[in-house]
Amino acid sequence: MRSKIVAGNWKMNKTAGQTNALLAELSAKLPDTRAEVMVAPVFVNLTQAVGQLGGSKIEVVAQNMHFADNGAYTGEVAADMLLDIGIKTVILGHSERRAYFGEDDALLAKKVQQALAKQMRVIFCFGEELADRKAGNHFNVVESQLKNALFALPADAWKQIVLAYEPVWAIGTGETASPEQAQEMHAFIRQLIAGGYGDALAQNVSILYGGSVKPGNAAEIFSKPDVDGGLIGGASLVADDFIGIIKGIG
Ligand code: PEP
Repeated sequence: MRSKIVAGNWKMNKTAGQTNALLAELSAKLPDTRAEVMVAPVFVNLTQAVGQLGGSKIEVVAQNMHFADNGAYTGEVAADMLLDIGIKTVILGHSERRAYFGEDDALLAKKVQQALAKQMRVIFCFGEELADRKAGNHFNVVESQLKNALFALPADAWKQIVLAYEPVWAIGTGETASPEQAQEMHAFIRQLIAGGYGDALAQNVSILYGGSVKPGNAAEIFSKPDVDGGLIGGASLVADDFIGIIKGIG
């Protein structure tokens, strides 16, 4: 189901105490919103976050997971472990996972399949690098990222997929895609899905934008017809900024 979503990716930030404090402030200040609101703390703080937010509108989600059920994968976390502590949504394919941990389309396809097999919702991230955009290759890059990881899925699986278009050149750089650039790419992505699965399905997929969204630019980006919300990095670490962005979606 297509819905408005604002998700905060906390990355490798916030100790247990800081997590508690930020969640308390977010809960206290959360405005009435039509958006689903999510936060993704680090693995070791997920259990506490779920406990703290019980009954709140804010969903706790994971930043990553492994494709296997369990086993000899030192340092990794499996879907069942997340489900067991009440996590139902996982971010996969973030550009930092791709760049620093060698995650490629083939690996991500396996992770997506595992998450879907476990009935989890996936926020699937993808996006071109600066060199791709400068070379005018950004549509091709996005098309191959999506087709390689997601287009073998049956139509039914798309109910569990949220897309997050995150141009790498805009992540953590302060440089945001213009609302027009975001809309252009989101419309292209929706067309791709329509080409593979039909227009009705494409109209039902939420496509988030990520990349230096701040309270000052959120409303304009979110006003675009194919932008269904945002995946927020840096600004999600400061309660007033994240709240300001949520207000931008109305
Ligand atoms: C992100 O890492 O997903 C992200 C969008 O980061 P930032 O908002 O800091 O650019």
